[in-house]
Amino acid sequence: MILKEDAAPAASPDPPLLLQGGTILTLDTGATVLRGAHLLIREGRIASLGAPEAPAGTRVLDVSGCLVLPGLIQGHLHLGQTFFRGLAEQRRLLSWLRERIWPLEAGHDDESAYWCGLLGAAECLLGGTTTIQDIGIGPGARGLLQAIADSGLRAYAGQCLMDSGDGLPAALRQDTDRVLAETESLGDHFAGAANGRLRYVLNPRFILTCSDPLWAGIRELSSRHGWPVHTHALEQLDETLAVRELKGGRDEVEYFADFGLLATDLRLAHGVWITREHLDRVRKGRFSVVHCPSSNLKLGSGVADLLAFRSAGVPVGIGADGAACSNHLDNFEEVRLAALLQKVKHGPDAFSGLDALRLATSEGARALGLQDQIGTIEPGKLADLVVLSTDRPELWAAPQADPHDVVAFGASRAAVRHVFVEGRPVVEDGRLTHLDLREIYRQSERCLAELIRRSGVEL
Ligand SMILES: [Zn+2]
Repeated sequence: MILKEDAAPAASPDPPLLLQGGTILTLDTGATVLRGAHLLIREGRIASLGAPEAPAGTRVLDVSGCLVLPGLIQGHLHLGQTFFRGLAEQRRLLSWLRERIWPLEAGHDDESAYWCGLLGAAECLLGGTTTIQDIGIGPGARGLLQAIADSGLRAYAGQCLMDSGDGLPAALRQDTDRVLAETESLGDHFAGAANGRLRYVLNPRFILTCSDPLWAGIRELSSRHGWPVHTHALEQLDETLAVRELKGGRDEVEYFADFGLLATDLRLAHGVWITREHLDRVRKGRFSVVHCPSSNLKLGSGVADLLAFRSAGVPVGIGADGAACSNHLDNFEEVRLAALLQKVKHGPDAFSGLDALRLATSEGARALGLQDQIGTIEPGKLADLVVLSTDRPELWAAPQADPHDVVAFGASRAAVRHVFVEGRPVVEDGRLTHLDLREIYRQSERCLAELIRRSGVEL
């Protein structure tokens, strides 16, 4: 729709590309740092590292003086809320949802969702994020999925599922059987789209808006198609207390255990109120948590205990959640906050810059089950990469400084120079290569005005 003619990355980008002379933070098991190194990309993958021989016809990009990292991963996002930045301030979770977010989401259609999704995707790409997991929306789900497919991002994405709940607008209260059939058909259509970069995920919003039959249907779809389940849980104490009241005294994890959801590939956003007893129950399953520090601070939710998750062997990802709560989708900011919060909770030596960067790279990939393909810079992995310029005062550091700390505590999206997805540039010299940002702004402004009118929300 708005893609420039050489659209989003294709499966076999070629010719080979050599990134020459950068400092490579591999984020591999040993956190190897290669200085003044070359990185050769062939057919969308990292072919070799160090000082490889470049075959004839190789394009060369000089990245000396730059830092090269794996493309960042955001494990929990609402690209469908990007329009709602600044429209739901100063509220706790349940009133934030009931008074503003749900009525606004109910106003989406495919067109508004498409531009809203591209606006968020553009922000992600410009900030060095190459992979996301998006929880979707109800009305407009198809438009949002199409935007994600067109954006150039790698993604797990799906439709947001809701069929009940206090304060839920009628437009979001989907008929259980109909929404299960609809999400299956969307999954059939979008799974494997964008040359395989889009994977489908089942997105029940949270327990308070999903009936028992909906959860049963989700479990069945998950086992039949192998689609993971991504939901919110244990984000805020009010929410958990409401779940206990609704579900006969059971909290989220107890409910999921009774319902067989722990047998699926279950990905929980937030988990601020996860306890050691919960971790004992989930550690045997395929279970991960996605930490959203900006959102948790802004909505006053609390501070998740990442060290407890890690010591239980639970992979932890990270994400900005959505522009309607955290206001921006800059994953470097999330990384920095995550480290600072764990230091407040556990002491200054408890969580290093490297620990924090892993949330957005190697460990973030594990949280999404993509560790064999992305998350580290190693030969054979997909060439999803971000190149940071160090020609910035906040990244100027002594050679003895650990570059993981320099990046985790000093970098922001302002330092992002180039971004590659599968070896193809999606950001070059700080500019999107295939998305027209001016056109996205223009269409977004028009669609948002219509959406607000449709929603009837008094702002
Ligand atoms: Zn969320």
